[in-house]
Amino acid sequence: MENQGFRKNLINIEPYVAGEQPKNDNIIKLNANENAYPPSPEVQKAISGFDAAKLRLYPDFSGEPLKSTLAEYYGLKPAQVFVGNGSDDVLAAAFRAFFNSDMPILYPDVTYSFYPVWCDILRIPYKTIPLKEDFTIDVNDYAQPNGGIIFPNPNAPTSIALEKSEIVKLLDANRDVVVVIDETYIDFGGESCVDLLDKYDNLVLTRTFSKSRSLAGMRLGFAMASEELISYMNAVKDSYNSYPVDAVAIAAGVSAVNDDKYFKDTLAKVISTRERLAKALEDMGFTVAKSAANFLFAEHNKFTAQEIFNFLRDKGIFVRYFNKPRIDNRLRITVGTDEQTDKMISALKELIG
Ligand code: PMP
Repeated sequence: MENQGFRKNLINIEPYVAGEQPKNDNIIKLNANENAYPPSPEVQKAISGFDAAKLRLYPDFSGEPLKSTLAEYYGLKPAQVFVGNGSDDVLAAAFRAFFNSDMPILYPDVTYSFYPVWCDILRIPYKTIPLKEDFTIDVNDYAQPNGGIIFPNPNAPTSIALEKSEIVKLLDANRDVVVVIDETYIDFGGESCVDLLDKYDNLVLTRTFSKSRSLAGMRLGFAMASEELISYMNAVKDSYNSYPVDAVAIAAGVSAVNDDKYFKDTLAKVISTRERLAKALEDMGFTVAKSAANFLFAEHNKFTAQEIFNFLRDKGIFVRYFNKPRIDNRLRITVGTDEQTDKMISALKELIG
């Protein structure tokens, strides 16, 4: 065939691969760190009561009134909050806005596998920093010339949180670059750095409604930073898609934030099941990292992660297995309801004895 030269200009990237999505409702899905519980009943009310006539108009381009609701909740000015279409969208805006140096950005070797994908598609140079043997971050490794830093706290898929005093050390050694902390799982036990935003005008925190607020299907995320940095994220947003968050999602998000009791009760349930599951896994011969998230990172002393993954999958229980260096004998298991957890423990007992 002639004139097929267009193929050399097609994009050449390896996209992010999400956890498998089951074809039927009987599957126990513990592979995407979704919340075990539904969102607040106030969210249901907001959606049911939403006036479809309002969809005639574009939503507020800055995500109001959700932005102000979040600002008030976290004690910030509305101009310090950026609202987006899930934290993936928010992170993508942050990568575009802040990582424009010729120097490599730094992030851990074992971390959220979307970071290398954004670096590839945006042509951002990067360098991975190995976690310590116990999968914790050594902040001293980040005291080197760089074009920016990003890491999740707690980290994923390790579930391990970094202490705030360590983060302060990292920030003090990196005043000339933007440091993005991906706080996707922070509500489940880590210490947020929101109070550091006053002191560090180069710090950006990203958050999501997908995990602690049970709204993965709504696609809502946000960032908190200095007004200056947020203005750059808005400039990026307005250069791609001025209205990423739809009007129904804005209404649902406001209702979720306003029901603080439900939020805290749900967190407490997930945390209590997490601790029970961790103990049960340890009793069965697993080594389990100390989790500050809504998932566990575990390795068995006899069965390989791949074997356990396949066994559970055959039983209709989906967990996450990453065939990647350093973590290919570990499973990442989302904390489900108590009933789901009991079913998984029983299934594991069948295999392990
Ligand atoms: N960061 C981390 C560390 C995650 O695990 C996830 C979930 N896949 C995200 C960001 C993105 O979540 P969402 O886009 O649903 O907010």
